Amino acid sequence: MNAKVKTCDVLIIGGGLAGASLACALEASGLSIEVIEAHPLRADSQPCYDDRTVALSYGSRVIFEAMGLWPAMADRIEPIKTIHISDRGHLGVTRLRHSDEGVEALGYVAENRVLGEVLYQRLVDNQNVSMHCPAEVLSLQQDDESVSVCYQQEGEERQLTAGLLIVADGVNSKTRDMLQIGTSRQDYQQSAVITNVTPGQAHQDVAYERFTDTGPLAFLPMTDNRCSVVWTVPTEQAAELAALDDEAFLEKLQQRFGFRLGYLQKTGQRHVYPLALVEATQVVRGRVVIMGNAAHAIHPVAGQGFNLALRDIALLAELLTLRPPESMQETLASYVEMRERDAQRVYRLTDTLVKIFSNDFSVLGHARAVGLLATDLLPFVKHKLARQSMGLSGRMSRLGRGLVIRGNHV
Ligand SMILES: Cc1cc2nc3c(=O)[nH]c(=O)nc-3n(C[C@H](O)[C@H](O)[C@H](O)COP(=O)(O)OP(=O)(O)OC[C@H]3O[C@@H](n4cnc5c(N)ncnc54)[C@H](O)[C@@H]3O)c2cc1C
Repeated sequence: MNAKVKTCDVLIIGGGLAGASLACALEASGLSIEVIEAHPLRADSQPCYDDRTVALSYGSRVIFEAMGLWPAMADRIEPIKTIHISDRGHLGVTRLRHSDEGVEALGYVAENRVLGEVLYQRLVDNQNVSMHCPAEVLSLQQDDESVSVCYQQEGEERQLTAGLLIVADGVNSKTRDMLQIGTSRQDYQQSAVITNVTPGQAHQDVAYERFTDTGPLAFLPMTDNRCSVVWTVPTEQAAELAALDDEAFLEKLQQRFGFRLGYLQKTGQRHVYPLALVEATQVVRGRVVIMGNAAHAIHPVAGQGFNLALRDIALLAELLTLRPPESMQETLASYVEMRERDAQRVYRLTDTLVKIFSNDFSVLGHARAVGLLATDLLPFVKHKLARQSMGLSGRMSRLGRGLVIRGNHV
């Protein structure tokens, strides 16, 4: 049987946060875009868009604003006005405040479900985008000018040929494997237990990052006075915590976090994620770009994974929109060169935080306390830390500067 063949400018495999954001960011390009996604569109079975959250940096808000998506998100997202960093069992505390940085908020906490709804609505409204889901990629082939993907949908084999293939099918990317692009992996022997809780007191838009002897614990402010909890523990403890009944879990969490938000009253469903730094050994090969978690999956301690991906997306969308399609090779080389530094900076920051703050050596404990106190007292250090976590340091794309991209080839 002959597979049905279709052509397009950009084919995106994976309609999660990264793939869907890129498809939206390319709207002004006028390029024809096809998205192949393993799960049904908007179905509850799409695990990427459940009640988990991401902390969006202020820089990500600027990008979504320039893409025209922010108004649809703003009312359903909670601002982070203060970040409170502390070390359990030691004295130092650092507070980063939005007013010190002259911004409305240092970041925002968004439920993946809300982001998914907003992104998918925009894709459905965009005539240049076609979604193929649920569908499964069977094989792919590339030459100098294009990539051909064979996939299965509704029991039928189909084929798409694209000028550019974006691989955004997550950390365990099958497509990356099909391309035989390897990964380097650093396993932290830690897992994150994720849940949403309701505390007894108002969170007042404060995000708490608490370093403990077993790993960092974050409470992020959500709408309806809920908090999104990311509790990092040694992997062997994670399953135990997830299996506790709600009452026992809340008691353990309360012991770790303390009473800054009063008594913890209610907890939602728990999810467990093993944590590792997984990096693709190549992010561009010929006409293929690896994006999002497929390119770099990082420890959530500094809440940087999706924010980093969105900065990649903003630049790639700008280059693809403004540069002529004939110079694709140079465009992709510029993309790699311009994004390398930011990624390395985020890996270093995250890795350092994990290593310094995930141990129980008392000398290091004191050093951490001194570091936190010093950070609280030295405005310059604090400002730098705040700019980094806000995604506002380093070289920025047009979208990252809040500028709308207008296409040349529409
Ligand atoms: C515990 C935890 C907390 C985090 N907190 C933050 C945070 O606060 N801030 C932040 O910026 N980042 C955070 N992150 C990172 C963030 O979640 C990721 O960066 C983001 O989800 C990456 O999205 P993605 O689209 O690359 O991958 P995914 O979300 O995994 O999406 C991949 C998509 O591809 C689809 N797919 C898979 N295989 C195929 C296939 N073969 N064919 C077609 N489609 C396929 C999937 O169905 C899915 O839709 C956190 C991560 C973790 C684990």
